Amino acid sequence: MLDEACVTVCVNGWEVFALDNTQPGRDYSGMENIKTVSVPGSPDSNHKFWRNASLYFDRVYATMGLDPVWREVLSKPKRILEVSCPIKMDDGTIKNFTGYRVQHNNARGPFKGGLRFDPNADREEVMALAMLQTWKNALVDLPYGGAKGGVACDTKKLSPGEKERLTRRYTAEVLPIIGPMDDIPAPDLGTDGQVMAWMLDTYSTLTGKLALGVVTGKPVVLGGSVGREEATGRGVMYVLKRFVEQTQHRTVEGLRVAVQGFGQVGYFAAKLLDELGAVIVAVSDKFGGVYDESGIDIEKIGLYYRERGQLADYPDGDAISNEELIACDCDVLIPAARENTIDANIAPHVKAKIIVEGANGPTTPEADAILQEAGVTILPDILANAGGVTVSYFEWVQSIDSYFWDLPRVRSELERVMNKAFDAVNAKADEADCDYRTAAYTIAIARVAEACRLKGLFP
Ligand code: NAD
Repeated sequence: MLDEACVTVCVNGWEVFALDNTQPGRDYSGMENIKTVSVPGSPDSNHKFWRNASLYFDRVYATMGLDPVWREVLSKPKRILEVSCPIKMDDGTIKNFTGYRVQHNNARGPFKGGLRFDPNADREEVMALAMLQTWKNALVDLPYGGAKGGVACDTKKLSPGEKERLTRRYTAEVLPIIGPMDDIPAPDLGTDGQVMAWMLDTYSTLTGKLALGVVTGKPVVLGGSVGREEATGRGVMYVLKRFVEQTQHRTVEGLRVAVQGFGQVGYFAAKLLDELGAVIVAVSDKFGGVYDESGIDIEKIGLYYRERGQLADYPDGDAISNEELIACDCDVLIPAARENTIDANIAPHVKAKIIVEGANGPTTPEADAILQEAGVTILPDILANAGGVTVSYFEWVQSIDSYFWDLPRVRSELERVMNKAFDAVNAKADEADCDYRTAAYTIAIARVAEACRLKGLFP
């Protein structure tokens, strides 16, 4: 349980739980010393994730000389909706799943953020992800606020029909607070274009109008954007490429890269970097990975993973654990699995000199401090993995206009947005003599706080 007080409010006659923003400010001092060990995705780790997200925000806000009133408001979500989703299982029984939609802030535009289906999704995890999304959207200057959704379920144990019924029931339950101009979900862990298609159909059926802009990450035949599937991994590649070009005056060719997590983000990041001449020395999934210092054949291992759903027993290279991957001999580490995978225990063993955060919240603040001290450059999540939401924004614009772009246009606009965001972060880091995470948060928080200030308070 959180220690903040909750109040119950009504949205269109539906009960919604919202955190009480009138509570006095929390004191985060001393958190730097917390060194608990928790499994990524466990309830304990989710509480820690929310605390970490709050800490990253609070540390930067405290140094910015902004009006303290917005610190209080921005440190908590605007709205939290928790829903029960009972569905009929294939064997005739009824099972109830718990879902969440957390809307953190919408000062800059409609709420926007992914939806994950994951056994460990809970309130704290979704709160943390919603807050990160606000900063990410502001950093790449999209006209959106930040939100996130989650349903606690194991998709591997659901049949396609059960997954569809769960998606449709969840959509019906969160319907009062989503919409093309209100809150726009997209895929995340455990969800994909098919889930977005069911959400689109359910929303359109219940509201009586086709609303292509209600979700992004849709299949292309239903108004999705070309290039959305690869977008987050492509954004990771653009940010790394820009970083080495601008600060080391070199290309990514020959860099030895290890990628943790071989899903949508990790696979495309590895594939695109491989195409530019980087050497992918390690990849992993939830159960472990593969190391090969001479370079992994990404097309071959990608096919193997798609066919079997895991990397275990891959015939080439050496089998390694996820901890071994994080500590392996490489130049660049790309955590692209999930939150809290680089903590204070493993951080001292990291050999990479560059970390590009493909996942949301992979590095805990304690690990961040250890890595900074060791001279590791971290390209933070709110910058490095913003390619997905950027192409989601392109998709939303295309859906509203009913005018669709071709792949070269999507890619070049994405590169322009990612380069501009990196350049702004790089300039801020130089000017303030700070690390990239601090620079990125400073830019994002300033934009959101300014929007809040200009809008003022209602009533
Ligand atoms: P995915 O479900 O496609 O893939 C996740 C991968 O990580 C899988 O290979 C899985 O086996 C592996 N994994 C899960 N838990 C792990 C663990 N504890 N250790 C090692 N590997 C583990 O998910 P995705 O869409 O690629 O998302 C990955 C991360 O990127 C998440 O943090 C997500 O929030 C973030 N992200 C995704 C997008 C997007 O567009 N998909 C955008 C921004 C951020």
